[in-house]
Amino acid sequence: MSSPNSTQHLDVKAFATNQSTLSGEVDLHSMPRLHADCAEEVAGKVTWSAQGELRQASDGHDAAWMHLQAKTEVPLTCQRCLKTVEQALVVDRSFRFVKDEATAEAEDDESEEDLLVISKDFDLLALVEDELLMALPLVPMHTSCQSEHVPTSKDDSDADADAKPNPFAVLATMRLGKD
Ligand SMILES: [Zn+2]
Repeated sequence: MSSPNSTQHLDVKAFATNQSTLSGEVDLHSMPRLHADCAEEVAGKVTWSAQGELRQASDGHDAAWMHLQAKTEVPLTCQRCLKTVEQALVVDRSFRFVKDEATAEAEDDESEEDLLVISKDFDLLALVEDELLMALPLVPMHTSCQSEHVPTSKDDSDADADAKPNPFAVLATMRLGKD
């Protein structure tokens, strides 16, 4: 049954009307889509909180709003050194609820806030996961990778030493040829 205090079956209008606040802590394990983007087993938690608000819209009607904060840390793969990088994810966004998908599409361009379709059975934790996924960096990377030497395969280094001419020597030859 829907209830203003059920995080996965939230009655959004009641939540906003009562200016309710919900908060919690959930295992990263319970967020499979986020989990799938991680480099290794996740053991951390997601802490989140949501505040409801009823705000008068320009048309005089009350609109339901939700302010959402969430944070966690996930292990991702550094795209420079390919080792694990612990990435903090922080979400702090406001949403305005509209009556249906068509209204959301029509008003999306002129709205600074994000629009969601109002529901009496709203999955707040799915929204938290959506927002954390959006907060993932496109290219995860250490601020500065550990500078230990990562050897290439043995064949490559052998080829470098034996066959590859010194580029400066080549340049010098070319210069000589020109003169
Ligand atoms: Zn790195």
